[in-house]
Amino acid sequence: MSDARGRALQNALAAYLTRWWPHAESAGAGRPGKDAVMTHRCPGPRCTHQVDDNMLMCGRHWRMVPAPLQRAVWAAWRNGEGRYSPEHTAAIEAAIRSVNPRD
Ligand SMILES: [Zn+2]
Repeated sequence: MSDARGRALQNALAAYLTRWWPHAESAGAGRPGKDAVMTHRCPGPRCTHQVDDNMLMCGRHWRMVPAPLQRAVWAAWRNGEGRYSPEHTAAIEAAIRSVNPRD
């Protein structure tokens, strides 16, 4: 992977994380006037699916993630305690990378 593509992926991941986790943090807590479930776009390649914030990606792309990586994402999440941890960030990055074409 080239440096430029690596930086682009990091930037995309950073944007994705800041969009996703603040919502995940407040999921289930009282949010006046915001009864609707928050969603975000699936990070899969050219995927336009909107998925609930408690899921990383749509079902089709999540099933493309190798099982050990799926387990790593959930294990690192630790019911929210692992949010922003290096382990969780790395697991998410690896999962997203696994469903995007390499160059
Ligand atoms: Zn998708």
